[in-house]
Amino acid sequence: FNTERFGQHILTNPLVAQGGLSADYRRIVDKANLKPTDVVLEVGPGTGNLTVRILPATRKVVAVEMDPRMAAEVQKRVLGTPQQKKLELIIGDFVKADLPYFDVCISNTPYQISSPIVFRLLSHRPLIRTAVLMFQREFALRLVATPGSKMWCRLAANVQLYARVEHIMKVGKGNFRPPPQVESSVVRLSPRDPPPPVRFEEFDGLNRVLFTRMNKTVRANFQAKGVKEMLESNYRTWCAEQGVIIPDELDFKAKVESILIDAGHAESRAAKMDVDDLLNLLAAFNEAGM
Ligand code: SAM
Repeated sequence: FNTERFGQHILTNPLVAQGGLSADYRRIVDKANLKPTDVVLEVGPGTGNLTVRILPATRKVVAVEMDPRMAAEVQKRVLGTPQQKKLELIIGDFVKADLPYFDVCISNTPYQISSPIVFRLLSHRPLIRTAVLMFQREFALRLVATPGSKMWCRLAANVQLYARVEHIMKVGKGNFRPPPQVESSVVRLSPRDPPPPVRFEEFDGLNRVLFTRMNKTVRANFQAKGVKEMLESNYRTWCAEQGVIIPDELDFKAKVESILIDAGHAESRAAKMDVDDLLNLLAAFNEAGM
């Protein structure tokens, strides 16, 4: 195989070479707490090292694999076994593929599409129960970061709005062939059910404003020239659509300032704001029609 092209780093283990079981794959599957009735989605099964450990524990595995040679390989691996009928392969790019119903996602993810995988899984309906995903260590640590810590960021806030995120285990680079440049970590996402009633574009829009300079105050970020203008223009569009009359003497800067003060966040900094703080600030803007 040309293993470079699709970023194929396959999890191996001395035990695998001896025909035994890979402890890491086993642990990844265990952490999903599968039920025998579950449909499991796997992204990028590769040669099927993880797939063959998921199959016996569940009703069905739907695997999305972009590389047709890999898809053939994983199919060959279950050929003539009781697992064969339980495996459905979708050959194509996960980012674009139509996804069927599934309860759980388990995947040693292609690292180039880490972020799209997370957001696709969290916006999937009906809600999935859980996802156990292997990522580059750095990406995993950003996902689980907490407010006030060095890794806290827009990604963490956006993901934690929708899910509880846990760091489950570390996987060293020595477990892969060929060895990748980076260390990996397994993360578990448990979507909040019901999901918070907020529009993602708005929450993310607020976070874009606040996290670009996350150590500056909220007030300073909202006074930045581009931000103020964008907000005012959006507000005027909204008022026109809603038939709200804007007074001629509207002092937009003062209006924003009073929203920030009333919400108690003029002096806050995104670096230390948690998801609830961010939601409260968004709600304050929404109440004012912004
Ligand atoms: N899960 C296997 C394992 O742990 O041994 C292989 C993992 S390998 C890191 C990533 C796999 O994802 C490769 O087989 C690659 O072809 C596939 N892949 C990469 N990008 C993809 C995409 N956008 N959609 C679907 N599969 C993709």
